[in-house]
Amino acid sequence: MKQFTYERAQSAADAAAAVARHRGAKFIAGGTNLLDLMKLEIETPTHLVDVNRLGLDRIEPTAEGGLRIGALVRNTDLASDDRVRRDYAVLSRALLAGASGQLRNAATTAGNLLQRTRCPYFYDTAQPCNKRVPGSGCGAIGGYSRQHAVVGSSDSCIATHPSDMAVAMRVLDANVETVRADGRTRVIPIADFHRLPGDTPHIETTLQGDELITAVTLPKPLGGKQSYRKVRDRASYAFALVSVAAVIGKDGAGRVAFGGVAHKPWRVEAAEAAMPRGAAAVTERAFAEARPTHDNAFKLPLATRTLTAVIQEARTA
Ligand SMILES: Cc1cc2nc3c(=O)[nH]c(=O)nc-3n(C[C@H](O)[C@H](O)[C@H](O)COP(=O)(O)OP(=O)(O)OC[C@H]3O[C@@H](n4cnc5c(N)ncnc54)[C@H](O)[C@@H]3O)c2cc1C
Ligand code: SF4
Repeated sequence: MKQFTYERAQSAADAAAAVARHRGAKFIAGGTNLLDLMKLEIETPTHLVDVNRLGLDRIEPTAEGGLRIGALVRNTDLASDDRVRRDYAVLSRALLAGASGQLRNAATTAGNLLQRTRCPYFYDTAQPCNKRVPGSGCGAIGGYSRQHAVVGSSDSCIATHPSDMAVAMRVLDANVETVRADGRTRVIPIADFHRLPGDTPHIETTLQGDELITAVTLPKPLGGKQSYRKVRDRASYAFALVSVAAVIGKDGAGRVAFGGVAHKPWRVEAAEAAMPRGAAAVTERAFAEARPTHDNAFKLPLATRTLTAVIQEARTA
């Protein structure tokens, strides 16, 4: 591991200012992703700003009837919150489908959104990877690509985003709240938060370097039957091959987002009008631009079958 310096910030403004002051600085929250990447020298921050003592660990109602989730709320606490379980069940289920109990106790809301891809070539520093070393090439294109993206990918990168939580937040239309070193705040719709890879796969979100996530807000509850179904190689402790987050009303109309298929949670709102006609009609539209590889074409029928199961479950509930 490369040497780094460390400080513990006492306020959100201090944390953002500390990252702005040090070239190559990063925030650290639960550390469950960043520390692994530092040990492999994939991430080499010069300075770590610990954000664990900022008091951003509460879940509070908003004036609009939704919930504000502090950036430091642990995944376990979010999944088990009574209001989340009752009104945003898709989010609770997505969180419980991720990682392990021990990891969820440490992992935070902001860190989960910002976790990096699990592409094996990204982790193997002997391999080319445009995300790790811009311009070096992509080991996965033409390599082993069973886990990789089938849609929204580019000639530079075919990685997927690994978060389960982010897929549920996308279907719920969450918003990400931030603050910068100069005190400026903004609200980023989750749809605009993660980026597709294009020619710059190393730039994964629309955040600026000194921009601290302070909270994620959820709009008022949608009602409906909410599900998160994750298909993976092992029953636990594995990332999604395909996942489906859905909110379905009694009339069969609803919303759906897919995980494990793209560089960001994949939701095509125009495809949702087809929900009452069944899964195939939805995925035909949602994956119209799909470019699977020889190893992962199975993800397209798998997405349809997974959504079929979710729709059937909603009908029989
Ligand atoms: C073995 C294993 C299995 C896993 N399985 C799954 C799974 O199945 N599904 C799943 O979704 N996840 C899974 N995870 C990932 C896990 O959910 C993430 O590691 C975790 O959510 C990251 O949160 P953290 O607080 O530890 O982030 P950290 O590691 O502390 O930080 C991650 C990134 O976020 C940045 N950051 C943190 N807080 C802020 C903030 N407030 N503002 C701006 N930037 C910030 C950091 O600078 C860093 O770049 C797994 C992890 C492991 C190790
Ligand atoms: S798919 Fe993306 S993350 Fe994986 S090797 Fe290619 S550029 Fe790197």
